[in-house]
Amino acid sequence: MHLADPPLHRVGVVVDTPQHSGLSGPLDYLCADALAPGTLVRVPLGRREVTGVVWPLDAAAAQALPEGQLRQVAEVLSGLPPLPAAWRALVGFAAGYYQRGLGEMALMVLPPELRELDDVQWQRRLKRLHKALAADPGSAADPEGPALTVQQAAALAALAQAGAQPCLLWGSTGSGKTEIYLRQSEQVLAAGRQVLIMVPEINLTPQLEARVAQRFPGRRIVSLHSGLTPAQRLRSWLMAHLGHADIVLGTRLSVFTPLLRPGLIVVDEEHDPSYKQQDGARYSARDLAVFRGRLEGVPVLLGSATPSLESWFNAMPVAEGGAGRYVRVAMPARVGDGAMPRVRVLDLSRAPKPPLGQAPPPLAQELLAAISERVERGEQSLVLLNRRGYAPVLHCSDCGWKSGCPHCSAWRVFHKVDRSLRCHHCGFTERVPRACPDCGNQDIAPVGRGTERLEEQLAEALPGARVGRIDADVTRHKGALEAQLASVHAGEVDVLVGTQMVAKGHDFRRITLVAAVNPDAALFASDFRAAERQFALLMQAAGRAGRDALVSGHSEMWVQTWHPTHALYQTLRSYDYAGFAAQQLKEREMAGLPPYASLAMLRAEGKTQEAVQAYLQAALAAVEPLAEALGGVALYPPVPTPVQRVANVERAQAMIECPQRPALQRFLAQAHPRWLALAQQHRRSGVIRWAVDVDPLSI
Ligand code: ADP
Ligand code: ZN
Ligand code: ZN
Repeated sequence: MHLADPPLHRVGVVVDTPQHSGLSGPLDYLCADALAPGTLVRVPLGRREVTGVVWPLDAAAAQALPEGQLRQVAEVLSGLPPLPAAWRALVGFAAGYYQRGLGEMALMVLPPELRELDDVQWQRRLKRLHKALAADPGSAADPEGPALTVQQAAALAALAQAGAQPCLLWGSTGSGKTEIYLRQSEQVLAAGRQVLIMVPEINLTPQLEARVAQRFPGRRIVSLHSGLTPAQRLRSWLMAHLGHADIVLGTRLSVFTPLLRPGLIVVDEEHDPSYKQQDGARYSARDLAVFRGRLEGVPVLLGSATPSLESWFNAMPVAEGGAGRYVRVAMPARVGDGAMPRVRVLDLSRAPKPPLGQAPPPLAQELLAAISERVERGEQSLVLLNRRGYAPVLHCSDCGWKSGCPHCSAWRVFHKVDRSLRCHHCGFTERVPRACPDCGNQDIAPVGRGTERLEEQLAEALPGARVGRIDADVTRHKGALEAQLASVHAGEVDVLVGTQMVAKGHDFRRITLVAAVNPDAALFASDFRAAERQFALLMQAAGRAGRDALVSGHSEMWVQTWHPTHALYQTLRSYDYAGFAAQQLKEREMAGLPPYASLAMLRAEGKTQEAVQAYLQAALAAVEPLAEALGGVALYPPVPTPVQRVANVERAQAMIECPQRPALQRFLAQAHPRWLALAQQHRRSGVIRWAVDVDPLSI
């Protein structure tokens, strides 16, 4: 170094380092300026130059590397205020809690385009944004909402009482929860603060955006989800960070949006599994929202008609055996005269048996008659079946061949539209063979039923009725979902067949009958959350019916089942979520499952099931003493995942359970480096990937 040079400052920078380098903290660099934590920089990493975030120096590491070995920060992305301390704290917490690298977490939650830009490009973006903002100054005159119902007024009073404590707004579909979000937002906006509203799915954002925009015409509203172009996403993010956006609407990734003046966080449909990221850093946006609220002293409002049992338990008073962490606010009644539809549990064991050798009809006679009546009256029906395609499998009755996927341990689904066999796990698709590939028999037949077949069968059984369908196949093309929904709204469809996709959030005015055709599978699923999910889905589906007071008098929700006395259906009859939850919680408590225990899943993938299991076994053995020392940490033997092979990769998992969350966290933090080292050793035997899933949603 030349003597006249000003002294260089040592700065910590987090960059996205791959997992195999461990759970690294910030790396040390040198810079001519002292940089505030949260500043974005470009730094050399190996032979590349990458974007990083300035972080407070790791005191221990700083002493380790002498200055002579440090490289210099290449560029500072100027003009952008540093990311706030609360953002860093949230990212740091998430990385620690979900066992990921700090840099991976920090860079993952930034808009992807941010990572590509250099300072010049940056400046240009900022200039363009400021120009657009100057042209559209926004005004602050917001019209008033509808007069509150008595129930809504009481709920708002309760929320005001709760202060900064997280609240669970437990309200039936159509009880006016969204109106409550808007009222709360109104106050926060009036106080000059920003609102973050999260929804589970991209499909639901346009609807909500329209409603929010209508209510707050003078406000700047931005949305944030993976469906935006990179430029749009960066723009929304910048608007939020710079404090220009008043309201941010987004999916799970928006929980990490830096806000200059946070005032409220809303998580709508908080029970929805989409809030949990299913790969990479498997975070729960709902749980992080609660953490963030506490961190920033901002109220968090979780809303649902069927809360997750975790949130329900958290909102249950201690005196009732709950955790008493959240304030529970109930809104049981729907707005106006719209009652929930009457539930009809149809006992399939009593239905007339089909002639020998014939498959039973898709819908029992009674149900078909009820739908037919509605068609005649000009009302609509919604028939739910949670399985896409025509038939889940093709079968040769001569030799027993079935349409398995060569790459997965799963059947390929028959899609009649394009006569294809498609694997829903790896996507492998072929045309349907003319004859059995094994024995040449020409008579290979579909077994079972998906939405495509149900649509066909209903059209046959209800001559003259217009039958439509909404599922992921129909809506693959952009705009297709909107078009199909519009035709339902316009009354061009009498009977709509759909997967769970249609049960969520869409407001169908003229539907007076909802039927679940095959809901029993959830009763016997290996996943302990299957019943909870099914109950939520059926409640949500029921909520699609009778929203229009004119027709709600005779609305019905039909459930076809072989197990009519099952607690799930018995509680559904009276929409008794609390009863259902109480029964489930009792089971969970006895079994030592969440919310009475914390879980983590150690998952691994590799070339053979043996290699994967051997790794998991070694991984568990290595931490057994640790589990014993900490006490209360139970390690379960590795098992193949429910679909054990996908795209020629074998998968297995081992469950780790502990009654106390902090103890499990301590355990995972200490176990992680050992698992990492072992995974490197087992790479040669064919272990490709491994990961810890904290608070796993699918078992
Ligand atoms: P949720 O979000 O609980 O499903 P919404 O907020 O969508 O319920 O309300 C259901 C319907 O009732 C909507 O059409 C909404 O515009 C209407 N609504 C809500 N609150 C009121 C109110 N206080 N007065 C009149 N209509 C209302
Ligand atoms: Zn055959
Ligand atoms: Zn496959």
